[in-house]
Amino acid sequence: MSKSKEERIRKFKKKRIWPSVLGLVLILCIFSVIMASALGLSGMDIVQRKLLDSSRKSVKVAELFADYNAETKEKIELTVLSHIDILEEIEAVSVIDMDRKPVWSSNEEYPAMDETIKMEFLLGITEEEIRVIVAENKEQVFTIDEGEIIVNEEALGNIFSIAESNAAAPFTQLKLWLVIPVNGLEVLVLNNVPVYYQDFLMMGICIILCGLLISIFVLYYLISIISMVSSVRRTTKIIYTDMVTGGDNWLLLIRKGTNLLKKNKRGHRRYAMVHLEMRKYRSFCTCFGVNKGQELIEKFYAALKKEMKRNEVMAHQENAEFGLLLVYAEKAQLEERIQRLEKVLNEVLPGMKVYFGVGIYLVQPGEHDVEQLYNNAMIACEMLGEEAENRTAFFDVEMNNQKLWERKVEDDMDRGLANREFQVYLQPKISTSEEVLGGAEALVRWIHPTEGFIPPNRFIPIFEKNGFILKLDDYMLEEIAKVQAAWIAEGRSLVPISVNVSRAHFTREDLAEHICAIVDKYQVPHSVIELELTESAFFDDKKVLLNTVKKLRMAGFPVSMDDFGAGYSSLNSLKELQIDVLKIDADFFRGADVEEKGLLIVSEIIDLAKKLNMKIVAEGIESREQVEFLTEQGCDLIQGYFYAKPMPVAEFARKYNV
Ligand code: C2E
Ligand code: CA
Ligand code: CA
Repeated sequence: MSKSKEERIRKFKKKRIWPSVLGLVLILCIFSVIMASALGLSGMDIVQRKLLDSSRKSVKVAELFADYNAETKEKIELTVLSHIDILEEIEAVSVIDMDRKPVWSSNEEYPAMDETIKMEFLLGITEEEIRVIVAENKEQVFTIDEGEIIVNEEALGNIFSIAESNAAAPFTQLKLWLVIPVNGLEVLVLNNVPVYYQDFLMMGICIILCGLLISIFVLYYLISIISMVSSVRRTTKIIYTDMVTGGDNWLLLIRKGTNLLKKNKRGHRRYAMVHLEMRKYRSFCTCFGVNKGQELIEKFYAALKKEMKRNEVMAHQENAEFGLLLVYAEKAQLEERIQRLEKVLNEVLPGMKVYFGVGIYLVQPGEHDVEQLYNNAMIACEMLGEEAENRTAFFDVEMNNQKLWERKVEDDMDRGLANREFQVYLQPKISTSEEVLGGAEALVRWIHPTEGFIPPNRFIPIFEKNGFILKLDDYMLEEIAKVQAAWIAEGRSLVPISVNVSRAHFTREDLAEHICAIVDKYQVPHSVIELELTESAFFDDKKVLLNTVKKLRMAGFPVSMDDFGAGYSSLNSLKELQIDVLKIDADFFRGADVEEKGLLIVSEIIDLAKKLNMKIVAEGIESREQVEFLTEQGCDLIQGYFYAKPMPVAEFARKYNV
């Protein structure tokens, strides 16, 4: 799997959850801060208001002493005492003179402000300075700093925590002394300010509402997080599920496989990447239907899955192809395991024989690019061809080089044709009777700008596979038509030049017309252009082949059968196919048993061809003995290194003076 794809899946899994989790955390933080400050502020505000209120009343009481003298003394003292009775929070009033001597006190217990109580500070409620002392458990609830009231949170907290269960009773009493200078005296007022639960009623309601709000938010976020987690899980499952088998898919194999191989960096375990494909799956689908085909794949998957061991993974790739990352000890044991898997898969379809192609790549320690490894296993399998039998191949470097070469050839072929990098070489065919030029074969060479001279066996098989051979053969035919036309114009004597017609052409019914059209562009007599067909074309569409050959011969083109005797030759084909020339394959003249094979079969073939009125060309002739033998047997033309190798057209023209 590509890095970016992997990253996308990883991000997908994270992306959907994190915003909600973050949202939840953020909301909790914001609410906590708001709640804490709201609590602190409103709590402080309530208490502060009570203290200020009480202080104002104290000032009013103190102001009664404005006209305090011997005459008014009794009246004022009585008034003050009645105020103390009425005002719940004022507990006692004492008066001292400028020398701090007691003048009067409403309560014998508080003759004057105790000098030892030093926690005094200023509370700017009037223009005059009023000293405030919180005497209850000696904790200072407020301090004044340059006129600013600063709350002692801890002390305030303590006040709340002394709360009593009876809501009607004050849950705490704040004691404070106010020292109010009046008329040269200092009036000391002891306040005992009660704080009730009811004072905090609004605040309580607010707390409950906020709590409710928070709970709703938290619940909403929790629900959305849970639903997201489950939807991510569901989607992840879909991402990693194969649509055909319902099991693990390719992405999962890559992920798990990569992890397994990365964990096995040191190579404690030996791994083999295996590509396993059912042969002729398409034919199976044609016979039994695509649905049955998919059912079969599903069963194959289930059967293979059962065979997997710990630390092994497998997945369906496409069609009837599977990728398996197997653990093995020895190569032989791995081969046995593959045979066992093939047997297990065969049991899925009782009464029917299924064949498999298996490509294996033995993973080297440190390798963990699963897709690359699988590609190697596939290359190994591709090299096996399409035969209907169980076959296994191990990947080797040469296979990879071949694949790379194929890729290069395919990348360069169009440009090569456009740039005339493909060149015509001619190889003479010499007559046995007079040892003079009797014909030639056009053979292609690729003069590649970077690779240099490339012989045809390195690219023709690739072109035959990818269809480019059709273009190349047309090109060669046209080049030969041009050459013959030029030689006619120069007044040279002509010999037939044969061009190869690959079997791939025999799918088009108008092949003969197509060939005529190319040659006729140059107005060359058809008799000087021979067409070499390989015998293998006979095994494709026989009807097209027979028709085309008939039409070509009627149009005057000599037709030859190339490579006769190579592969599965059938003498039958000679009877059915009306051709002019038979080219005996070079293989007859190679190898250790040349003598017997040559003498026996070649002379028989020549004999038969003669009876069928065919001309005979022997190719691949390298020695004088072979020439003599063939001459003796009545062979007409000889093509081979004994006379000459294929050469450029100009050199051929010079040498043979055509
Ligand atoms: P082919 O058609 O059987 O061509 C004969 C091959 O045998 C040529 O190989 C030729 O160079 C080689 N040969 C001739 N005499 C001797 C000899 O005495 N000893 C040995 N060892 N070899 C000899 P070449 O040119 O490499 O071509 C190989 C094959 O490539 C051809 O086999 C043909 O099948 C294919 N090919 C070449 N050019 C074309 C083309 O233009 N179109 C098509 N379709 N196939 C072509
Ligand atoms: Ca040929
Ligand atoms: Ca040949």
